[in-house]
Amino acid sequence: MYHYKFCPLCSERMVKRIPAEGVDERLVCASCGFIWYNNPVPACGVLITDKDGRVLLARRKYPPKEGDWTLPAGFMESHEGPEECAIRETLEETGLAVKLKGILNAYKGGDDPRTKVVLIIYLAEVVSGKLEPGDDASELGYFDLNELPSNIAFRAHVRAIADYRENHHKPCVH
Ligand SMILES: [Zn+2]
Repeated sequence: MYHYKFCPLCSERMVKRIPAEGVDERLVCASCGFIWYNNPVPACGVLITDKDGRVLLARRKYPPKEGDWTLPAGFMESHEGPEECAIRETLEETGLAVKLKGILNAYKGGDDPRTKVVLIIYLAEVVSGKLEPGDDASELGYFDLNELPSNIAFRAHVRAIADYRENHHKPCVH
């Protein structure tokens, strides 16, 4: 995780403080009182399936976890709400405009080296667009839930896909 060594407001050195029992240790500026809460950052994305029930995954073009697969997703911009973020990230990474159908769930992400994450995944369907990798995706693919790639990045994505498979997926009967 990234940590502040110096205060982003006044440049003095940050020190560790435990403000109260049961609260996380925080970095605090001893000079101006700035507190770095280090809260998890929301990331939003979608779970889209094709007519055969296969799940759309995007391959990561950049570190961390370059070359690994995830659901189309990304970090929320400061002006956005979660639904807007999920729709925007999907369009950027896949070229697809989607309609959100409902929420799959929200997942704790603790293994992204950049920051702590809360991943919110929506169930979505494609409205328009042409499937084409963009932004930080190098490749896209629809995967059978029984033949997923072994290198899925981030536990939150692994959990979301498993959650869908166990609780939402209806196997084809042909
Ligand atoms: Zn300061």
